[in-house]
Amino acid sequence: MQLVGKAEHNARRGRRLGLAALAALLVAGLGTACSSEEAAKPQKPAKAGGAAGAAVVNPAAQRKAAQQALVAATKKWGLAKVPLAAPPAPKEKEEITTRDGFEVEDHEGLPPVFTTVPTEDKVVFLTIDDGAEKDPQFVRMMQELKIPYTAFLSDYLVRDNYKYFKDMQATGVRINNHTLNHRYMPGLSYEKQRQEICGQQDTIQRQFGKRPTLFRPPYGNYNEDTLKAAKSCGIKHVPIWNAEAYPDRMEYREWDRDLHPGDIILTHFRGREDWKGTMPDMIRQVMKTVTDKGYAVARLEDYL
Ligand SMILES: [Zn+2]
Repeated sequence: MQLVGKAEHNARRGRRLGLAALAALLVAGLGTACSSEEAAKPQKPAKAGGAAGAAVVNPAAQRKAAQQALVAATKKWGLAKVPLAAPPAPKEKEEITTRDGFEVEDHEGLPPVFTTVPTEDKVVFLTIDDGAEKDPQFVRMMQELKIPYTAFLSDYLVRDNYKYFKDMQATGVRINNHTLNHRYMPGLSYEKQRQEICGQQDTIQRQFGKRPTLFRPPYGNYNEDTLKAAKSCGIKHVPIWNAEAYPDRMEYREWDRDLHPGDIILTHFRGREDWKGTMPDMIRQVMKTVTDKGYAVARLEDYL
């Protein structure tokens, strides 16, 4: 049975690696499995970079170990329920269009503004703005719970500690644009808006090594110049939000006060100075709401 499992596993890898690599893998894999010592050992989850190597990893055991780690993290961080697993990222992306009523006068060719991503998956997206609070517990919590999120940073709040967000980026979080100084965009000239948006594109590229494609205007306020400026700086999408999470409550845009498949949830890098709680408190609240309603948190960029 172990051999069959391994062969299947190798076949899957083989499809990715090509036939020549498959042959090599099969030889290597069978060689190890035939060693009676190896076969007699109970399957332990392989440690990352462990000497056993990838060829003897049992996917079922690995999944089980991952689930056990998630249950332990749920308990450790005080979540009410184990977060639901998001389905695989869609292979073909739906076309993203501007939400009705959110268009600017001449929107054609400008980046779409949307609050919800078109999908039938029971997923929502977590997006976190600004950057004032830099709580290392929060980064650890999200990493251990494997909850994806997207950061929209405003440089004036972040520049005293880029390292905090670099460490966050290293956990798989994408860093996106929320302007240099968090000004009310429609109150600025096109040129000033461009400085705010392109300036932050340059800063993020310099500090984090990647130029964002997502931009969120401060307060969700924008005009045609904002979208033109954003486009000229390389922005492809302008996701805003359909719900907002706080440590003690949710706020919804829709009359039904509910979540919907593909909804974008906004929250902030804030702590006790601004909120009735910490960032981990906020995550406990939003995850209880999301999980109770049967949703998983997926990564926004996977759907765009
Ligand atoms: Zn903001």
